[in-house]
This record gives sequence, structure tokens and C-alpha cells, in this order.
Amino acid sequence: MNLRFSHIYVEKRVLNDSYVQKILTKFKGAEIIEINHYKDRFNPYYQSFRAQKQAQSLILAKKEAPFIYGASELIQKQDKNFFYTTPMLNCIYDCHYCFLQGMYPSSNLVLFVNFEDFFDEVEKVYKNLGNMFLSISYDTDILAVENLFGVAKIWADFVKNKDIKLELRTKAVNVDGFEYQKNIVFAFSLSPEIVIEKYEKYTPKLDSRIKAIKKVINKGFRPVIVFDPIIKVPNYKKVYEEFIKKIFREIDYKDIESIVYGTFRMNSTQFKIIKKQLLSDIYYYPYSVKNGIVEYKDKEEIIKFIESLLPNIKKFKV
Ligand code: SF4
Repeated sequence: MNLRFSHIYVEKRVLNDSYVQKILTKFKGAEIIEINHYKDRFNPYYQSFRAQKQAQSLILAKKEAPFIYGASELIQKQDKNFFYTTPMLNCIYDCHYCFLQGMYPSSNLVLFVNFEDFFDEVEKVYKNLGNMFLSISYDTDILAVENLFGVAKIWADFVKNKDIKLELRTKAVNVDGFEYQKNIVFAFSLSPEIVIEKYEKYTPKLDSRIKAIKKVINKGFRPVIVFDPIIKVPNYKKVYEEFIKKIFREIDYKDIESIVYGTFRMNSTQFKIIKKQLLSDIYYYPYSVKNGIVEYKDKEEIIKFIESLLPNIKKFKV
């Protein structure tokens, strides 16, 4: 059983913020604990990421600069002016392959509430460049907690009349609250059901994700489909062939903006940390390490095979 958010830590400096007060009313039974700085709770090295996943606490805090970041080599850069931002750290889902396990000492969910500071910095960069592609869901799955926090909607309102594409990368199916807005990019991560069951704990089933995709298409959006990370499960060719055929039987590829795909890969330091704390066969395949990145030895063969199954539309790969 997951006892999520029975404890909420709030930085004293944001306690009287109206957004914070609104959030706290949603967790009536929770114990509220005032803290000086979120890092006092989040950063100590002696915590157990895995144990905290069973009973995640929520931390409401103020972020300090930087507020946006450029692409790294592990991210598919879908646009010239690509940036990502981190309004939230950690995720209520628990994917075996998630790099966050190796990046953060804590799995508690940090929600930054100083939206205006994020917006000011985005505004500066935007004014300079004229347009942007901004992902707000890399270090979390923001839509998974949209009913609780409404963060995606706040960002959607901020970019409304700007030439900023706002990417919501997600495994969630929580799309009802969004009406058509031309610069919101829903990017749905899909995996074969066998991968979801084994490696994507707490996430919606494949059929529910397909339904969510159909819903946003019906509202006029052109979603992105993300096959990333592709996991080398036993019989992966058969598994992925059936999976990709199913997707494009149910969804007309002409309604899709693009496909993003890539095989499992990870920074080698994070890989080692996770291997020590999570018992998962994902970390025991034959890998190669190149420039500090762990990836399948036969990555090229897997990619070639997946590409042979994809329709002829815009694609981005790592
Ligand atoms: S949905 Fe994404 S952020 Fe959340 S646990 Fe899975 S991989 Fe990590």
C-alpha cells in the first residue's frame, strides 16, 4: 500500500502563499511540518529512495535559479530552441528504468510554488529567441498529479499567446481538463503491456493511454508518441512488433505530430547507484559504456528493427 502525502513539508518562506494554502486544503488529514529549506529534507544522503517510494511525502518549496535548462545528450532535442524546466522533482510513478532514482537521494515529491520566478526567466529567454520548445515534465510526470496541483494548466495559461510549445510528456491519462490550445504538445509515452506490468509501477495500462491519445486527437491536438525507453524484454522483436502494430491500428498515424524513440540508456553513475538499490533485471543485461553512458550493446540492431515498424512521419531518436 502506498501512503503517499501523509506528511507535507512546507518551507516557512512560502507558507502564506495563496497557492500553497489552496494545496494544503486538499490534504486535510496530513501532518504539516514547517522547514527552513527543502534541501534540508531532500538532500541528506542517508535516506532510502526505495523506502520513501512506499510513503512519499510532499515538499512545498521555492526554487532558486536556474529555472530552465538546455537539452542534454540523453534527451531527444525536438526543436532548435529546446529547453526544459523542473517545476517538480520526482514522480508518483515508479518505473524501474527511471534515472531519477540515481539522481536524487530522496523520492519525496518537491513542488516549487514560485511560478512567477520560472515565468520571468522563460520570458527573458523567449524575448531573446522569439520562440521556444519547453518541456515541463522531464524530472517528473506532471499530468499524473494534475488533479492535485494543476501545474500543467498554470503553465498552459502562461504560454497561451506566446510562440512557446509546451511539452507535457506523460504516461498519465489525465487529459480531460484541457481544451484545445495550439501550443500544448501532449507527448504520450507508450510501452508494451508486458513492460508496463513489469517495469512501470503505478502507471495506467496501455489501453487507457491509447484512449487518452484518442481523446486529445478528438479535441484537435496532434500528440507526439514516445517509444522510449525501448526495453529489451525476452522476444523483444515479437513483443514490439505486436505493440507498434496495435498502436497504429487504433490510432491513425496521420493524426500524430511525430514519434520520439530511443533504447534504454543511462548515465553510468546513476546506473550504478540504482543497481545497488533496486532489484530489477533491467540492470543485468549486457551493456556497453561509452562516454559515461550505459546502453545496450546491440542498440543499433534494436533501433533498426523498431524503425522498420514505424510509419513514415516526423521522427526523433536518441
Ligand atoms: S513516469 Fe517518468 S518520471 Fe515518472 S517514474 Fe516513470 S520514468 Fe520516472
